[in-house]
Amino acid sequence: MPFKTALTQKLGITVPVVQGGMQWVGLAELASAVSNAGGLGILTALTQPTPESLRKEIRKCRTMTNRPFGVNITILPTLVPPDYAAYARVVVEEGVRIVETAGDNPAPIVTQLKKANIIILHKCTTIRHAISASKLGVDFLSIDGFECAGHVGETDITNFILLSRARQELKVPFLASGGFADGYGLAAALALGAEGINMGTRFMCTVEAPVHQNVKQTIVNAQETDTALVLRRWKNTTRLYKNKAATDALKVEKQSTTGEFREVAPFVSGQRGRQVFLNGDIDFGVWTAGEVIGLIRDIPTCEELIGRIEKEALETISRIKLLYTEGPTQSKL
Ligand code: NAD
Repeated sequence: MPFKTALTQKLGITVPVVQGGMQWVGLAELASAVSNAGGLGILTALTQPTPESLRKEIRKCRTMTNRPFGVNITILPTLVPPDYAAYARVVVEEGVRIVETAGDNPAPIVTQLKKANIIILHKCTTIRHAISASKLGVDFLSIDGFECAGHVGETDITNFILLSRARQELKVPFLASGGFADGYGLAAALALGAEGINMGTRFMCTVEAPVHQNVKQTIVNAQETDTALVLRRWKNTTRLYKNKAATDALKVEKQSTTGEFREVAPFVSGQRGRQVFLNGDIDFGVWTAGEVIGLIRDIPTCEELIGRIEKEALETISRIKLLYTEGPTQSKL
């Protein structure tokens, strides 16, 4: 029996699991595999060098799945600022129905997309930002705890608090993002009031993820302590796999006397990180990973993974139900 949450119903998916936008990873191979397995696959717009190449990737994804998929548009500091509006225009022209936005000042892009009636999942790391985004008319908030990979924000609040704060404060339905890899996590997220989960690192370690096998094996071997927080000095804190490149970047960050971003820029360059995924030299550049890296022990297909998550979540919910026995209550309250 498929799940029925606000997320599955609005997006037309069967399992409330979204594959979050990941730089260099959100390509048609992965997005279509996630969607074919019943979740929501997402293409990463900025992984494509131009809006026109995003158009091609969207069309390619359509040939690989008949199910809904989305596009991620992340608005954060970059070494080469992209034309976000042009990427969003392609999304609208190609008839994509779902977009995951993330980052700073999403108002112009959200307004542009909402005019085309696109469903927006906006990712944020604080309740304050979530409330601002809900005023823009986003359909779902993706609440990203400090455990997450990539841009963790500057307030360091983990999901046990953040999700409950979301449940208390938000009028817009939300998903839980950061720290999720299995169905136990999905059941916990639903218990805390979320409509589903968003996973990145877990999907990097699937058969269909377009990253080198060495990266997948490194994730399988890693522990939850193997991530590093870099770029805090520039208020753009990013959780990375703790490799040589991340450690070198951190050293520059700590020792720089000027505090100028250009000193650290060569160490954190996305293009160098991309080489890691292509060539499998784990230390060549930085790449993002969440604390959830410590939970991942295998490299399944997306279908196996999503099927397992569904089964684990349903079993967990049933097990918890059994903890309550019918009959007269012992409580005097
Ligand atoms: P990039 O090579 O342009 O930059 C490398 C890193 O430095 C990124 O973390 C970026 O945010 C940061 N950075 C760049 N200029 C900065 C500045 N002036 N001050 C502080 N930090 C600065 O990055 P990329 O890999 O080509 O990616 C392009 C953009 O898309 C980045 O902002 C990236 O973080 C973002 N993105 C993130 C995700 C995600 O899932 N976390 C997904 C898609 C895109």
